[in-house]
Amino acid sequence: MLLIFGICLCLVVGVVLYARLVFGDPGFTLESKRKENGTFYTMKDLVQLRKPGVWCTICQLIPTKPSKHCKLCNRCVYWMDHHCLYTMRCIGKRNYYTFVWFNFVLVAGLGQTLLLFPGYAEHLGYKHAWMELPSPLFYWCCLKYIFMNQGLLFVVLMGMSLSFCNTLYLFYLTLSNISHGYTSYFRPPEGRRPYQSGLAYTDRLSNLTTFIRYGQIKIQDPNFVI
Ligand SMILES: [Zn+2]
Ligand SMILES: [Zn+2]
Repeated sequence: MLLIFGICLCLVVGVVLYARLVFGDPGFTLESKRKENGTFYTMKDLVQLRKPGVWCTICQLIPTKPSKHCKLCNRCVYWMDHHCLYTMRCIGKRNYYTFVWFNFVLVAGLGQTLLLFPGYAEHLGYKHAWMELPSPLFYWCCLKYIFMNQGLLFVVLMGMSLSFCNTLYLFYLTLSNISHGYTSYFRPPEGRRPYQSGLAYTDRLSNLTTFIRYGQIKIQDPNFVI
């Protein structure tokens, strides 16, 4: 009963977060950045700055760094993480927090749904009790029973198990990025492996707790400044 409540809760919270991701602002850049001293750029400045990486020729502005022009959204996105194909929106500075919680809810919801499958097996007529077999074997026997008796349900369960593993892995990668203070896009290039992080584990933990509480990154990795 508690599991059903947990799944329903994840479903409702998941739908709300998903709607926020689809309709919210990921951090679209709407106006040019001002100079360090607060004044606007002059025409002379613009001519000098009109080069790749500074001036976005499509948005016709100087985006605040770090920004990346997304071809699918057709806008510059501040603190770009990636363009999410499930929401057809970018994940950037303003919706990164929502995205992380959405990921968490997805992992929790899928995990709880998978815990229900011994119940399905029992419903189909499986007789062994939890205590009779060591737990991984019990799950395996339940799964085998479902495969023999309800092929379609087995396919659904397999799909959900794969989605669970995939989402869990992506969630881990996102948390790892946050702990270092970079995003999936603004991160050390592949060629620099093995990458030496400049942050100690305590700093990384501090980044994670600050992000969970305030949605902000506290300490930047000195070996990779965005
Ligand atoms: Zn742009
Ligand atoms: Zn995008």
